[in-house]
Amino acid sequence: MHYISTRGEAPAASFFDAMTAGLARDGGLYVPDVVPSLDAATIAGFAGRPYAEVAEAVIAPFAADAFAPDDLREMIAGAYRSFRHPAVTPLVQLETNLFVLELFHGPTLAFKDVAMQLLGRMMDRALGRKGERAVVVGATSGDTGAAAVEAFRGLPQVDVVILYPHGRVSDVQRRQMTSVPDANIHAIAVEGSFDDCQSIVKAMFNHHEFRDAVQLTGVNSINWARIVAQITYYFVAAVALGGPHRPVSFTVPTGNFGDIFAGHVAKRMGLPIDRLVIATNENDILQRCLADGDYALRDVAQTQSPSMDIQISSNFERALFDALGRDAATLRGLMGGLRQGGHFSVPPQALAQLRGEFDAFRTDEVETADEMRRTYRETGHILDPHTAVGVHAARRALAQEGGSSPMVVLGTAHPAKFPDAVVRATGQHPALPPHMADLMHRPERFTVLPNDVAAVQRFIRERAGAAA
Ligand SMILES: *Cc1c(COP(=O)(O)O)cnc(C)c1O
Repeated sequence: MHYISTRGEAPAASFFDAMTAGLARDGGLYVPDVVPSLDAATIAGFAGRPYAEVAEAVIAPFAADAFAPDDLREMIAGAYRSFRHPAVTPLVQLETNLFVLELFHGPTLAFKDVAMQLLGRMMDRALGRKGERAVVVGATSGDTGAAAVEAFRGLPQVDVVILYPHGRVSDVQRRQMTSVPDANIHAIAVEGSFDDCQSIVKAMFNHHEFRDAVQLTGVNSINWARIVAQITYYFVAAVALGGPHRPVSFTVPTGNFGDIFAGHVAKRMGLPIDRLVIATNENDILQRCLADGDYALRDVAQTQSPSMDIQISSNFERALFDALGRDAATLRGLMGGLRQGGHFSVPPQALAQLRGEFDAFRTDEVETADEMRRTYRETGHILDPHTAVGVHAARRALAQEGGSSPMVVLGTAHPAKFPDAVVRATGQHPALPPHMADLMHRPERFTVLPNDVAAVQRFIRERAGAAA
């Protein structure tokens, strides 16, 4: 299997190269040239199997040319042993036909661990085989950084540089990035928004001389290997609810569109998914885009669900590429328009295609708090604010469709990761799990830098550059 760039101007890559590169050299995102499919009998056979076994069956077709089956099995087993729940991603029922798939039982309490725990192991093995060092860089609205720090800390071949918006992540999120003692971890607080952090990372990748000099590697959700790892739980949840014999719908609290894009891939692999519902907070570019066809940037609003405080939703490019019938030239034109004029219009046929697969609902700050309160009152279940945005959207989607197929909301974070919002809404104080109980007392280490690519590059060359 080969990976091609959505912008059509980079050479095809292997899984290994797509993983270690992150972003393609033409600025595009890698997608598989052909999506593998699983037949109904294979999918039905997932019922009752351990999570790691399903993961192997789902991931192997994408990664088989990079890793031997035994290697893959060992890495997957290790990744999911780090989760504190025997089911890895347990399903919780809130109501008839309304479920939450809890993806936050990994080391840093957000769904990012599902992919990052595996990516860390794959990257380590890949670099070790090549005898190379790398600088892993990521922009984070909070959770990706923490997950990357946990997955890569102490690895001899990797320096990790995480950019997060100064003062705009929760205390728990920040401390997860700044309180690890390992010398290969570098947390940078950028004086700007998450989108600024993401722009700096993209600019560094497009600076080819710098990229090659320090062996830059990206672990943002644009990294194809992360998407692949996220496909697994769509299969796990659907099969638990009667799939593939009946269709299941999913609602996904969405920022960078990585998690929901994995659902789109699961569907293309043959999993009967009815609707994929995009749940956004007040940063509603995707909801507006599906409604009126205009993908138009606005300022980022700070909300109580900060991991979704994003305007430029990077992985949407992959969905758009498919909706355009994989027409890279048209996609390049649209992205150029976005860079220059801050917006683009989705061509009518592509818009119809997107609307055929996705719904989108926006949940504001008051509704988010109301949902946390309502769910707690009615079920005793405490939702984090991101998952609450999802549950609120899911209720509207169910009402619209008459609610015939089960709806699974992806539970993206543990409530203890966002205690302030949870306490405000419910009066309940969610406790951190024991392995993190002393988090608020650990010493912190981070560097504040201006919103400036050159300053970040200087930092990396001086402090982290393998070949600098
Ligand atoms: C990253 C994140 C999201 C958004 O996921 P995307 O793949 O970026 O759409 C939602 N909720 C939480 C808690 C997250 O950490």
